[in-house]
Amino acid sequence: MIAAPIYLDYCSTTPCDPRVVETMLPHFTRQFGNPASRDHSFGWLAKETVEQAREQVAALVQATPREIIFTSGATEAVNLALKGLAAANPAAGRHIITAATEHKAVLDTCDHLEKNGYATTRLPVDRQGMLSLDELEQAIREDTVCIAIMYANNETGVINPVRQIGEIARKHGICFMCDATQAVGKIPVSVADAHIDLMAFSAHKLYGPMGVGALFVRHRRPPVNILQQQHGGGQERGTRSGTLNTPGIAGFGKAADICRLEMKEEALRLRQLRDRMETALLEKIPGAGINGAGERLPHVSNIRFPGTDNEQLLLTVSRRLALSRGSACSGIVQQPSHVLQAMGLTGEEAGNSVRISLGRFTTDNEVDIAVEILTETVRQLQCINI
Ligand SMILES: *Cc1c(COP(=O)(O)O)cnc(C)c1O
Repeated sequence: MIAAPIYLDYCSTTPCDPRVVETMLPHFTRQFGNPASRDHSFGWLAKETVEQAREQVAALVQATPREIIFTSGATEAVNLALKGLAAANPAAGRHIITAATEHKAVLDTCDHLEKNGYATTRLPVDRQGMLSLDELEQAIREDTVCIAIMYANNETGVINPVRQIGEIARKHGICFMCDATQAVGKIPVSVADAHIDLMAFSAHKLYGPMGVGALFVRHRRPPVNILQQQHGGGQERGTRSGTLNTPGIAGFGKAADICRLEMKEEALRLRQLRDRMETALLEKIPGAGINGAGERLPHVSNIRFPGTDNEQLLLTVSRRLALSRGSACSGIVQQPSHVLQAMGLTGEEAGNSVRISLGRFTTDNEVDIAVEILTETVRQLQCINI
């Protein structure tokens, strides 16, 4: 039997922690009730499960439980946030500020709003993937309703100055929507400290199941109004109708709990491992370079190998290593990364780049093997491509 490849693509998705699966299992069989069933104990138990998970998820981001709306994932949460904000405040203005390096969930939702009379400013970033706070403040107009900037980038791990962004948004009375999908559970995230008004995140990026996510909606100082985008039974206090995914939500709660308790140690371990891997690759492969090497997530590395084509490289190693070119979310025809292009990399440099993302179950040995395989393969490809 051929061994499974070493998984180094934790930014695309993470395996469920076995403790999460254990928490979920009873909710498929014995405790299968609908949390909206008010007339019997099956429903009451399910409701209790959901509310406990809501507390666990809220605690991870320092929100209150009533500020957490469960969704099917971060994409839905981003859509609900931006479209729901626009719909709830039709007279407030029609300008949104975002960044060129955002996830497609945000950029495509902005495109959609543009077709409905909104204007968007997509802020540029520098070579390190950082945006300028001065440029952000200069982009604010009389009719700006929302600043939509992510917490940490999914291709490079670059962390935005969210606290300062939140302060600017608050100073101008503008809503701050933050896609924190890559940051929550990996680094400390506090909606209070960062003055975040709306925040999207997802269970499957933090060792929980796929198909569950959350939208944080600030309840106080100031309360944020969004309008439901999906109509029906009025679940989630009317903001998001549809029967809740109780097993998934129970798993999300457990995953959040584990992250809250173990994040600090895990981040330390992964940072050391990532740095060791980068040092080795940069030493062994002449001309290799890190994209966005400033402030970034501890477990992510976006790295260029000159003289290689990333599609060819990833295919060549694919039986032994699972890495990616960045986003897992694009269509059949792979475009050069919009994130790396926004950072000013040439098409060729973007085409040399791969994302390596480590996680909870990555071992020292796996990283050593990956360094060996990559070094050897890059050298081979560089010879062929000369
Ligand atoms: C994965 C990801 C999403 C999409 O999350 P889903 O839960 O899969 O819909 C959105 N934004 C960022 C930054 C992501 O990394």
